[in-house]
Amino acid sequence: MNYSNNIVMFDGVKKSYDGESYVVKDLNFGVERGEFLTLLGPSGSGKTTTLMMLAGFETPTQGEISLNGNVLNKIPPYKRDIGMIFQNYALFPHMTVAENVAFPLKMRKISSHEVGEKVKKSLDMVHLKGLADRMPSQLSGGQQQRVAIARALVFNPKLVLLDEPLGALDKNLRQNMQLELKHIHENLGVTMVFVTHDQDEALTMSDRIAIFNDGVIQQAASPNEIYNWPKNSFVAKFVGETNFFQAKVVSSNIGKNHIACEIMSGEVFNVYYEGRVKEKTNISLFVRPENIRLESLGVKKSENDNSIKVKIEDVNYHGDHSKVTLVGDNDIRLVSKISSAYGYSDLSGLKEAVFKASDCKVLEA
Ligand code: ADP
Ligand code: MG
Repeated sequence: MNYSNNIVMFDGVKKSYDGESYVVKDLNFGVERGEFLTLLGPSGSGKTTTLMMLAGFETPTQGEISLNGNVLNKIPPYKRDIGMIFQNYALFPHMTVAENVAFPLKMRKISSHEVGEKVKKSLDMVHLKGLADRMPSQLSGGQQQRVAIARALVFNPKLVLLDEPLGALDKNLRQNMQLELKHIHENLGVTMVFVTHDQDEALTMSDRIAIFNDGVIQQAASPNEIYNWPKNSFVAKFVGETNFFQAKVVSSNIGKNHIACEIMSGEVFNVYYEGRVKEKTNISLFVRPENIRLESLGVKKSENDNSIKVKIEDVNYHGDHSKVTLVGDNDIRLVSKISSAYGYSDLSGLKEAVFKASDCKVLEA
């Protein structure tokens, strides 16, 4: 994929609905041509407002949005050539499937011969070939959403906006539709901006994720980077589960990109850190639960391993893994995710929670 140019630019965009508080605060970012960009964040963080401004259904209070280099602020929605898909399908109930899909073409005054052809192709793409003459009420939720997808893509827009389009579907159907949308994205080479509050969905589908909180983008990066190198504690908490430790630097240089830090229970950790930090600085560390393994006390560890003495407080079975809550000295609590493929047998007595130095990282140093 070629990300060398932006199809969309947000330039100092702010939005206030009440003239007092901003629900979107100073957005400055680009959507790269051809990418699948996800806006991920909690409810009320400004995702839909951002999408609505891009679509033209809301106006920025300040700043400019441009599409293909043209400032959009004064261009009405129907002239923006943007496809839209919403959570609640928004199909026209009195029109057949084919008429629904044909609607954007008729709005654009496409000849009826061409309309028939394009509608057929679009319904094919979402596997609804045989259902052209049904009414929306005769379709399942998943089928209705496919119609909405066909309708959003039928006029060959260069940009498609999707606002929680899979939110109303049950888990299996949702996962199938995630893959289908990904395939459509790849096959058409269209740019997609996708909104969700579901972190798994964002990690599976996206080329890039922009994490929203309180109207501000906290970090925009690839799923891998977001998960492994979260920029701040909000991102680390919102995407995946995280164990945090407050610590003090005891040695700022113990070999390449590593520092030594003492945590509240007295253990000294060997921590991965690329930056510079002074001794005695208070910092915050994190380790993902899947990187923590449980060992019997005294089992030999490798030189770069960290460990904390813990008791097992709680075990929660999740099928493919178990979540184990651990308590160390000074009431330090951590969660370890243990794959059922490895498991553990002895849950009594003291254990060591062990993790590699490279899996222990610094936040907000
Ligand atoms: P998200 O999609 O991330 O859940 P929204 O963009 O829908 O967030 O909402 C952001 C904030 O703006 C929320 O506090 C919401 O209540 C408010 N808001 C959204 N739409 C309107 C509106 N049309 N009028 C007034 N306030 C709104
Ligand atoms: Mg929303």
